[in-house]
Amino acid sequence: MEQVDVVVVGAGAAGLFCAALAGQGGRRVVLLDNGKKIGRKILMSGGGRCNFTNLYAEPAAYLSQNPHFCKSALARYTQWDFIDMVNRHGIAWHEKTLGQLFCDDSAQQIVAMLESECAKGLVDIRLRSEITGVEKTENGFDIKVNGSTVSAHSLVVASGGLSMPGLGASPWGYRLAEQFGLKVLPTRAGLVPFTLHKPLLDHIQTLSGVSVPAVLTAEDGTVFRESILFTHRGMSGPAVLQLSSYWQPGEFVSVNLLPDVDLAGFLDSQRQQHPNQSLKNTLAMQLPKRLVECLQTLGQLPDVTLKQLHASQQAELVEQLQNWQVQPNGTEGYRTAEVTLGGVDTKALSSKTMAAAKVPGLYFIGEVVDVTGWLGGYNFQWAWSSAWACAQDLVSV
Ligand code: FAD
Repeated sequence: MEQVDVVVVGAGAAGLFCAALAGQGGRRVVLLDNGKKIGRKILMSGGGRCNFTNLYAEPAAYLSQNPHFCKSALARYTQWDFIDMVNRHGIAWHEKTLGQLFCDDSAQQIVAMLESECAKGLVDIRLRSEITGVEKTENGFDIKVNGSTVSAHSLVVASGGLSMPGLGASPWGYRLAEQFGLKVLPTRAGLVPFTLHKPLLDHIQTLSGVSVPAVLTAEDGTVFRESILFTHRGMSGPAVLQLSSYWQPGEFVSVNLLPDVDLAGFLDSQRQQHPNQSLKNTLAMQLPKRLVECLQTLGQLPDVTLKQLHASQQAELVEQLQNWQVQPNGTEGYRTAEVTLGGVDTKALSSKTMAAAKVPGLYFIGEVVDVTGWLGGYNFQWAWSSAWACAQDLVSV
C-alpha cells in the first residue's frame, strides 16, 4: 500500500496552497481532485482576472457562527503575505475598487503560481480522483481512491462548498466531517442574486441590464453601499450579492436608490425653477430613464407636474425611492452563488491549526469550514490564510 505523509483533497485555492507549503516543508504530499483541471474556481473568478485578496481583509468581513474563529489565521498569514508571493512571481496586479486586488492579465497566472509552488514542494497532483472511502487507522487514514488505497498520516479536507456544482463542487467534505463526528452547520447559498415575485418581476424585467448605485439594508441592520443590477430574474450586482449573505427567506430588503441626494430639497428647488416640468423628467435627472418609467408603471410615481405634486405625495415618493421595501422570493441558489454559507462547525476545529480537536491528523481548510467572506477577494484570503495555518502544523508534527 502506498504510504505518504499528507493527503489533501481538493485542488482549489486552499488545497493547492496548503499542499505546496507542506511539500516545501519536506512532507510527501498527494493532492487529489475529482476534476480534470486544478483551480477551476480561481480561473472563473473575478471575471477571469481573479480578485485574489483585499487590502482591507479583516475578521469583520467574515460571517461565521463563531466570528472569532478566523482571527488567528488571518492575522498570521495576511493579505500582505499573499501579495508578496504574487510579486515574487512577477504577476502584475491592480486595485479595482474598495481594496479589491485583481491580476492585470489573467487568473491563469494565480493558478500557474500555485502550480509552480506545488512543483517546488514535489506535490503529487492526481486529477480525476474518485474517493470512495476513508478509514481511520492507528497512524492516520486509509483513503480509497480510483480503486487503490493511499495511506496518509494527515488528511486535509479542502473540498470547498456547494456553489457551482458544474465546477466539481460536492458535499464530500461535509459528509466526511459527519463520518468523524464533527457537526456540520446548515448550508445555504451566499453572494448570490435575488429572484423576485410576480408581478414585481414583470416590471423589473423591463430594466434588465440597468445598474444604479444604491444603499441596501438587510432586516438585521447590515448595510452595503455598492451598485445594484436589475436582471431578467430579479436583482444582482455587488450590493445585492453582499446583502444576500445576510438575508433570510421571507425578509424584506430596504433599497435606497438615491443615497446621495436630498430628494425633497431637490424636488423643492426644481419646483421653484420649473413648476410645469413633469415629475418623471425631473427624476430622470437623477435616475436612469428606464428605471423612472418602470417606477411609474409600478404605481410608485404619480403622472404629474412638479406644481401638481402634493406635499403628502412628495413625502411618499421620497420614502419609496429612498426606502423601497423589496421582498425577494428567493435566490438563484448554488447554481450561480459564489460561496456557501455554513459548513463544518468551527467549534470542533483549532483556530490555530484547522485541526479537528478529536480526530488527530484531520484538518479542514477553505470554504468547507463555516467561515464565509464578503465579495471582493475576502474568500480567497480565507483560503490562503487557513491553508497556511494548517500547513504550519503539518510541517511541525
Ligand atoms: P474550491 O476552490 O471550491 O476547491 C475545492 C476543490 O475540491 C475543487 O477543485 C473541487 O473539484 C474539489 N472537490 C470537491 N469535492 C471533491 C471530491 N469529492 N473529491 C475530490 N475533489 C473534490 N472569491 C474571491 O475571494 N475572489 C473572487 O474573485 C471570487 N470569484 C468567484 C467567482 C465565482 C464564479 C465563484 C463560484 C466563486 C468565486 N469566489 C471568489 C469564491 C472562491 O472561489 C472560493 O471561496 C474559493 O475558491 C474557495 O476555495 P477552496 O479551495 O476552499 O474551494
